Amino acid sequence: MTNNTPANDSNSAHDDSARAEPVKQSGSLTRRTLIAGGVAAAGALVLAACAPVGTSVLPTSTARTVRKITPPRLDTAYLGEEILCYRPMRRGAPNMSAETVGSQIIAHNYGHGGSGWTLAPGTAKYVVDLVEDTEGGAIVSKGEPVIVVGAGVIGLFTAYELVQRGYSNITVMAERFEKITSDNAGGLLAPVSMDNAPEIQAIIDQIGIDAYRFFAAVAQGDQPDFAGGAKIVPSYFETREESGLEPYVGQVMQPAKDVVVDFGNGTTRDMVVYDDGIFIDTALMMEELHSYLESRVTFVEQKVLNFADLPNNLVFDCAGLGSGALNGDAEVVSVQGHLIMLKDQVPADMEYMILVYFDEGVTEANQKVKRSLYVFPKSLPGTGPNDIGVVGGTFVEGGTPETPNLSEYATMLQGAKDYYGIA
Ligand SMILES: Cc1cc2nc3c(=O)[nH]c(=O)nc-3n(C[C@H](O)[C@H](O)[C@H](O)COP(=O)(O)OP(=O)(O)OC[C@H]3O[C@@H](n4cnc5c(N)ncnc54)[C@H](O)[C@@H]3O)c2cc1C
Repeated sequence: MTNNTPANDSNSAHDDSARAEPVKQSGSLTRRTLIAGGVAAAGALVLAACAPVGTSVLPTSTARTVRKITPPRLDTAYLGEEILCYRPMRRGAPNMSAETVGSQIIAHNYGHGGSGWTLAPGTAKYVVDLVEDTEGGAIVSKGEPVIVVGAGVIGLFTAYELVQRGYSNITVMAERFEKITSDNAGGLLAPVSMDNAPEIQAIIDQIGIDAYRFFAAVAQGDQPDFAGGAKIVPSYFETREESGLEPYVGQVMQPAKDVVVDFGNGTTRDMVVYDDGIFIDTALMMEELHSYLESRVTFVEQKVLNFADLPNNLVFDCAGLGSGALNGDAEVVSVQGHLIMLKDQVPADMEYMILVYFDEGVTEANQKVKRSLYVFPKSLPGTGPNDIGVVGGTFVEGGTPETPNLSEYATMLQGAKDYYGIA
């Protein structure tokens, strides 16, 4: 696949044409320019990234392929459920480690922030490898009782990995099995919005590449245990760097292309697109994981207060935000996200994902927020075929159910309208 060559651009679901004329540009600022310029004023609710369209005319040096995208319908009548949920972020890096405490091996796997789905199959494999490589792990027989604490995507993929390796006595114990962060997540495969210490970046990249292979196999119907839950759709970002996907290129993904996205209303945006991006249907994938595991593991609904209370020698700690209290880990922080589900859309117009960064500010509860815009083809179980699409983009550090920061919904929606050039 060649960059910027319309004749070769057969991978796109969108209407493409080549254009070499100057592009009307919206004056959008990237996250980095905003921060460097000190624009992130406390309390600012105005999205600086959403200046009026056509404020400057920038010449393009090379012909970019034009992609036509019809904006989603964002009037009130087309807005569905509003969802608040909480990313289990760990400052510095996720905890993917194994330790021996008394007679127990405790394998930690939590703190993946806004990228838990992106990494889940890979991080499960990585941590089970760690356990099997420890001296104690090697002597745990595969018939011995093993417990996985947590039934989010990390816990369920850990259980799946253990089943695949022949462990036969697995219990998944969780305080909650439903309406958890993993059910609500957006579904973009991209290793962004998490903390990565530079020294573990190469490990995170490899974990993500492993996970990409897994989800790509699901999307292509080559994963016999999963009938669905992932699909290949173009993923748009402002820069390659902001996608986090560059390490995947040449390993499992094709290079991104430089494109002009034309929203058909006079608004255009210079973007990069990975045509082999992956959308994970998180609700469906959770259902698939449950149906695979229900005859192979025991599910127990119970809160764990202390690992030492568990009789098992091998414990996988996949409790997300709960791992902070279980381990006395002060680096675990809740990062709140706001989602607005869309309804009565045209499904064919929603076959893409977009993620762009806006600004930083402070919420009504005086919490630090990074604002972005993302739109994915997500739908909720039990909704109609046209109830497709989600608008999201807030990252409120320390946000909890006690600080819902509800005015972020309106800010987010206005940001989406401005970005798409919707009056
Ligand atoms: C708005 C939003 C959008 C997102 N979008 C994306 C995206 O597009 N792509 C992406 O890759 N990721 C995304 N994420 C991030 C992703 O959802 C999370 O990283 C992931 O779901 C974390 O999974 P988890 O299993 O660690 O935690 P959770 O899903 O929170 O599960 C934790 C489990 O542990 C249990 N538990 C907690 N404490 C205890 C205890 N003491 N005893 C027993 N059980 C306990 C809970 O009941 C639950 O079952 C998003 C998150 C949010 C909030």
